[in-house]
Formats: sequence, C-alpha cells, structure tokens
Amino acid sequence: KHIAAIAPYQAGKPIEELAREFGLDASKIVKLASNENPLGMPESAKQALSAAVANLGRYPDPAGFDLKKAISQRFGVDQTWLTLGNGSNDILELVASALIEPGSAVVYSQFAFVVYRLATQARGAKHLVVPAKDHGHDLPAMLEAITPETKIVYVANPNNPTGTYLSIEAIETFLAGVAARHGTRVTVVLDEAYNEFLEPALRVDGVALVKRYPNLIVSRSFSKAYGLAGLRVGFAMAQPVLTDLLNRVRQPFNVNSLAQAAAIAALNDKEFLVKSFAVNRDGKEQLQKAFETLGLQFVPSYANFVLVKVGDAARINLELLKRGVIVRPVAGDGLPEWLRVSIGLPHENQTFIDALTAVLKTAP
Ligand code: PMP
Repeated sequence: KHIAAIAPYQAGKPIEELAREFGLDASKIVKLASNENPLGMPESAKQALSAAVANLGRYPDPAGFDLKKAISQRFGVDQTWLTLGNGSNDILELVASALIEPGSAVVYSQFAFVVYRLATQARGAKHLVVPAKDHGHDLPAMLEAITPETKIVYVANPNNPTGTYLSIEAIETFLAGVAARHGTRVTVVLDEAYNEFLEPALRVDGVALVKRYPNLIVSRSFSKAYGLAGLRVGFAMAQPVLTDLLNRVRQPFNVNSLAQAAAIAALNDKEFLVKSFAVNRDGKEQLQKAFETLGLQFVPSYANFVLVKVGDAARINLELLKRGVIVRPVAGDGLPEWLRVSIGLPHENQTFIDALTAVLKTAP
C-alpha cells in the first residue's frame, strides 16, 4: 500500500524526443533542468575513464579502496568513516534502509529534496513534513517535530529545489539540540550535494561535525561541482558505528569502476572545481539580474540553480520548451507557480533569458 501511494519522480523527456515533438534542432536545445555542471565532465576524469575501460571485464573494487583513500586524504577523514554511493541518492537510501523499521517516522522540510520522501516512503516510514520558512528549512521547528518514533532527520544545505542556505550556527544549534534531547536515537543526514558552490566561509566543516556528533551523516555528491552526474557517485562521512550500518545494507558493487576512477581524478582536479565555482557564481548573477529586470520574484540561490516565480508555470514551461529551452517545473514539490532553472554557461543563460522574456509577453 505504501508503495502504491508514492508519487513517482517525474523525469523530463530526452532531448531528442523533445526536438521531435516540437520540431526543433536538437543541437540547439538548451537544457537547464537537472542542476548539472555546464562545463561537463573534467578532462582529467575523461582520461581516467579511458584507462579504466580496459578493466571493465572485471567487477569494480567492492570496497572502493582507492577512491576512499583519495577522499580520506583530501578531507582528512579516516577511510573507516566513509561510505560510497551510486550517486548521493544511494546514500540517502542506504540511511533509510539501515534505520527505518515498522512504525518509524522521518522528519524533513516542506520543499526539501524529493528523494527524502521517495526513499523513506518506499520503506513505509511516517512522514513528518515541517512547513518551510522563507522557502528554507525551519530548523527549530524541525527539532520540535521529532517524535519518539523518529529515526532520521534529513537536512539539505543548500536545499534543492529552493537553493536556500542554513548558516553554520543554525546547523550547530540544531545538531546540539538533537543530541541533547535524543542522543544518538535520531540520525541527522546533512545533505551537502551543492556544498562546493558555497563561498568557502559559508561551508560547514563536515569532518569536524561528524567527529563531534556520532548521530550525524554528511553526504556529498560528485554530480554537481565535480561534473560527473552521469557516472553516479557520491559519498557519506560518519562515525564508524553508523558507517558500519550503512555498509551492511549497501550492495557490494554499488559504485562502478568507471565512476570510481573518474571520481578520483575529479577530486584531485582543483582547477576544474575553481572554474565550476566561478562559472556558477557569474551565471547566478546573470540570471538573478535578469529576474530583477523582468520584475520576477526569485529565491536568492546558494546552489547551481535559481527558483523563480513565473505565475502560470505550466504554460510558461511549455512555451519555453517550444523555444528549445528545458527548465524544471516544480509543481510536484508544491511550488506550482515556480520554475527551477539550472545555471548554465553564459550563452545558455542568455538563451533562457531571451526565451523567458519573449514568453512573458505572450498572452495566456
Ligand atoms: N541531494 C540533493 C539536495 C540534490 O539536489 C541531489 C541531486 N538532484 C542529490 C542529493 C543527489 O545527487 P546525486 O545522486 O547525483 O549525487
């Protein structure tokens, strides 16, 4: 019954299919819909992939030793504190698999990342959805929402689809509150898929936090700033007791060999990260300025996308599609008047802005 009640993840159509449907040139379509890195994958990762192809007749390293070693060195966290995932979505699911039992509840915010609902609903958990505050998480209210049945609290920072940010102090206060009231009975997942797009001074020190909080799991993604969305790789940092639990429910070969090899290369490619950050910062300014000029309300973003209020989002989205621009409607997230636009390269952002400007002039 609880599976039948799930509203499935709504995937967009492939570009070729859209081109056929709307009679467009597929090569001219601009896709700003999935918060991918507009620079694509780093060259360093491409080279690592070529080398890894030679070994595809064999299973991947089930423990991901080399990638864990690289993460361990890069972030200063012991390998026994790391779990690799098939994308960080996999991590979010592993937590649900490991901790949810019949009667369990989970806490997350209204407008939070959809996978918190999907992963936990599939396991029959009760959902305690806390109303958002200014589109972001209301952490004090989330602390109050924790019940004796609550096993997991998911916190996204920055959050998708809203792009909202929680301060280091707010997160610290929340973690201290959960620990003081519930000890290690409640696990907090701090989802930092967009962490690398934050100004360095705004980033929490995830390693320091997991050292202090035995009930904390920090998850990270290689899909965004590292440019490896198609390979599906992410990881979690947590103390060994929790890490051991995640490892028990993890499939042995959940991260394939190509993903492991490319992630090591991307992790060490500081230049690419710096460029990703700069492209994103400039693109964000370009989009947000355009929204101001157009008189559109938007949620100031801390991630690699912007949530903008356009009114009749279904109509505007369709008109954008007809003009070869793919963005993300978020009606399914409870935001029927808004669209989420991923930040692209300058010319892609401009194509979107021009199309939106034209569409807003068309009568409904
Ligand atoms: N967390 C958040 C907040 C996200 O927006 C996403 C990607 N949409 C993920 C996790 C998962 O990303 P991935 O599985 O590609 O690492």
